[in-house]
Amino acid sequence: MHSKTKRIFAVIMFVCVVFALIFSAIFVISHINHECTDEHCPVCAQIHNIENLLKKLFSALGFFAVGILLSCGLLRIRNAFSRLKNTDINTLIGKKIRLNI
Ligand SMILES: [Zn+2]
Repeated sequence: MHSKTKRIFAVIMFVCVVFALIFSAIFVISHINHECTDEHCPVCAQIHNIENLLKKLFSALGFFAVGILLSCGLLRIRNAFSRLKNTDINTLIGKKIRLNI
């Protein structure tokens, strides 16, 4: 899959998640004080489904945030080690490139 296609797919997925969050919140707010007719109320069932969806989304966001923090920490540790060895790979010396040839 091309990079541009992946980017478009990611944007579409992000927009879908944001719309799901917004409309779920609107549904819950507008039906929070509804009159329950019986034990198998469809509105209460829908509110329960939204509650589960929000729990899953926020736990996924938590895992995503932990992943980003771990990768940033690993990058900092790698950069610190490369500075200690004085072989920073982002410099000409680190890449072993000579300019006087
Ligand atoms: Zn109800």
